[in-house]
Amino acid sequence: MNVLQATIEECLNCHQCKTACRRLRSFEKRSPGDVAQAVLNGQVDDKVMDFIMKCSLCSLCNELCPYGVDIRGMVTYARNSLMDEGMIDQECYRHLWVDRDWNLFSLFRANYWLDITYQGLVKKNCEVLFFPGCMLVHEGPDLVRHAAEWLRKRHGDGVGISFQCCGAPLEQMGQMERAKTFGAGLWEYILQTGASTLITSCPTCHARMMATRPDCNVQILSLFQLMARSGLRVPLPDSEKITVHDSCSDREGVIGGAVRELLQDCNLVEMEHHGKETICCGSGGLVSAIDPDLCTERALRRLKEAEAAGAETCVTYCMSCSHRLAARGGTSSVRHILELIFDKMVEHEEFDRMVHGLFQGERGEENFLRLQNSQRLFFM
Ligand code: SF4
Ligand code: SF4
Repeated sequence: MNVLQATIEECLNCHQCKTACRRLRSFEKRSPGDVAQAVLNGQVDDKVMDFIMKCSLCSLCNELCPYGVDIRGMVTYARNSLMDEGMIDQECYRHLWVDRDWNLFSLFRANYWLDITYQGLVKKNCEVLFFPGCMLVHEGPDLVRHAAEWLRKRHGDGVGISFQCCGAPLEQMGQMERAKTFGAGLWEYILQTGASTLITSCPTCHARMMATRPDCNVQILSLFQLMARSGLRVPLPDSEKITVHDSCSDREGVIGGAVRELLQDCNLVEMEHHGKETICCGSGGLVSAIDPDLCTERALRRLKEAEAAGAETCVTYCMSCSHRLAARGGTSSVRHILELIFDKMVEHEEFDRMVHGLFQGERGEENFLRLQNSQRLFFM
């Protein structure tokens, strides 16, 4: 039974999930089971298509469903089915085809990024492999360097670094088979390094690597778990109220708990939605490729919660969340936890300017061509 069939069978139309989500509420009487039925029957109307493409894959609905329906899984499966039927044009996601030699991140590196050696951290064999994740690598390279140095102080020369993507964008756009192949190749590469510990910093990478880990002895830990265990604490003045934006990928609070430990000397306040019930920052589900204004609306909603909690600073532990929230203003300033730990500032506007610059003028023409002609990526 696939997840569409399971949703039809398990959904009892109780509408509990709708309390979490405006997009589900827009269906009025229809339930996730009805959506799954429409996809299965090939009766996808504009409303169903709009929902499937603009769901942020945040999983809050899954959290609230008393019958354990996997609504998030149903949406990614539906994206996959509709793509196979030619109803979703994958071109809008082409820049995020991370299993191709040319994608947004490799273009960024080819155009701007000069120091890719990271002081000898790129190597074939290591004991501890640091896996910072695409957004942190490209938007906060200084933070990655500092984090790698911190790891090296603890683990010596056995620390290596990987700039690979975890493959989550492929899964989110509904490219299931490609995501599976990519994940298998990535793990083969990780196992070849001989690393016994994989250190993530992005919560989405963490969840993805946990979900795709083959039967092996590699331990997966978040950098923030490691930092909290080491006794590291973020120094902030007592008077400043701060709040933590939890990532949708970390509803169990494994990483959010460690981040709160790092912030325990600060004046911490909680937003209405946090932990298991956190809400999307606007960057989830690759919606920015479909409806950027909706992403802004989601980010503003989140920032309003931070303000309502009286927080002057909203701390994130995901660079995608930071990027999305920081770009949308609001009175709360947004900082990635590593910015506070290493006393550095990420220039989000500068990063945006560089990304836009990739697709303008002569450079833009060349980069568009590279994307069009990109080839399947093979791991080293
Ligand atoms: S995953 Fe999030 S956005 Fe999508 S239906 Fe569920 S609550 Fe709504
Ligand atoms: S909460 Fe679960 S059972 Fe109720 S309508 Fe939503 S998916 Fe269906």
